[in-house]
Amino acid sequence: MADPNGFLKVQRADAPKRPVDDRLGDWREVYADLTPDQRESQVREQATRCMDCGIPFCHSGSAGCPLGNLIPEWNDLVRRGDWAAASDRLHATNNFPEFTGRLCPAPCEAACVLAIAPESGGAVAIKRVENTIADVSWERGHVGPVPSAVSTGRKVAVVGSGPAGLAAAQQLTRAGHEVTVYERDDRLGGLLRYGIPEFKMEKKVLDRRLAQLRAEGTRFVTGCEVGGSAPGSLSVAALRAEYDAVVLAVGALRGRDAPDVPGRGLRGVHLAMEHLVPANRECEGDGPAQLSAAGKHVVVIGGGDTGADCYGTATRQGAASVTQLDQYPRPPETRDDDRSPWPVWPWILRTYPAHEEGGERKFAVAVERFVGDEDGNVTSVQVREVKVRKDPATGIREVVPVGDEVQVLPADLVLLAIGFEGVEHMPLLDCLGLTLTRRGTLSCGQDWQTTAPGVFVCGDAHRGASLVVWAVAEGRSVANAVDAYLTGASDLPAPVHPT
Ligand code: SF4
Repeated sequence: MADPNGFLKVQRADAPKRPVDDRLGDWREVYADLTPDQRESQVREQATRCMDCGIPFCHSGSAGCPLGNLIPEWNDLVRRGDWAAASDRLHATNNFPEFTGRLCPAPCEAACVLAIAPESGGAVAIKRVENTIADVSWERGHVGPVPSAVSTGRKVAVVGSGPAGLAAAQQLTRAGHEVTVYERDDRLGGLLRYGIPEFKMEKKVLDRRLAQLRAEGTRFVTGCEVGGSAPGSLSVAALRAEYDAVVLAVGALRGRDAPDVPGRGLRGVHLAMEHLVPANRECEGDGPAQLSAAGKHVVVIGGGDTGADCYGTATRQGAASVTQLDQYPRPPETRDDDRSPWPVWPWILRTYPAHEEGGERKFAVAVERFVGDEDGNVTSVQVREVKVRKDPATGIREVVPVGDEVQVLPADLVLLAIGFEGVEHMPLLDCLGLTLTRRGTLSCGQDWQTTAPGVFVCGDAHRGASLVVWAVAEGRSVANAVDAYLTGASDLPAPVHPT
């Protein structure tokens, strides 16, 4: 039984981080190396803050965990020191808690009842508890391969090896299907491999999970573009002939650009992924990144997760300066008590560890033009104060300049981290006769099936760029639909439904 007064006795404490100088000297994750005893005792204490609410808003619903993670249950098991049982309950709803624990911005914490009022000491440190259960599970052997006891004789291809594709593949393999994951890159993981910096999630965390999937029987083929024409590609005709069902988990990697901003064509103005992918490749041992921020004045445009990833990457590469621009005004650092006292996503300042490591953030500003030298290299960025509002007539969001003052920021490297516009163009979609929605995504019916029979979609390709927890939730759900399609019914969980 949880202690309903635990939060009155223990203050919330996030995982301690390494000193900034240490962090900037390597690419490792930012968290401090605690001894196993320190780590486990601290996290058990944090877990005592959970009240085991009658209606746990953290667990599900519009604001909580899309996976329906059994948060109060595993908080209580951790409190009691039963790490093996906590691992079971955590993995009951989440294939990859070490990914979500590290990468998800934790809608569960925003929804936690203790997030309502500052005097409660803040939300339960759910991410920290989740992450620790996952890591302890691996270290103590509480997780391992879970091969299927049955074989259905049905074959499934999963296209894309990001979190949605891997979750679908693992669920379907465990249900007894013969699953092959196709990845066009040379290594597996999609955004987890080449989009997320090492300092947020070390790749060994991904690799140990891939080893589990392999041991369970999931097959992987890298360097293979389904529907492509390069050597090693697989034709759509061969795909359809070989497999009984296909899951498209191809992501939504078409980066939003700023083609109308004067100077966009200057050398040194890049999309965020053009910076992050080579930096991650360097960490994988592929040699020095061709696009490095070393010695440069860097301006990151966009205040979200990807912008923060560029920010931390540029700082580690030795940038002369890093400035991140956000169109929105600086939010308050704590929740305003005058707002609705109900668990909702709090409109408060989101600070990433990268922001503690140097550099500067500017709010309520937008780029007016990129300025270059006579050789065509960007040299500065002109920005102006703005406010974001809804057009009263159309209801469409618009960005309006405020005043006449123009600020000039020195810039040798500009990184556009202003979001993603949907699925990249790929021959595979044409061959399957699939068209994109106005949001640039692939639509499907309530059974996750596209207009191509036997072809399903999940993750960012369906939802648009979103959180890793949504990718895993959609991967699990599409597996239920594919299993039912192949066998007539499914016992696999389906935590979410198509939008
Ligand atoms: Fe525990 Fe917070 Fe969930 Fe309540 S809402 S059960 S306090 S984690």
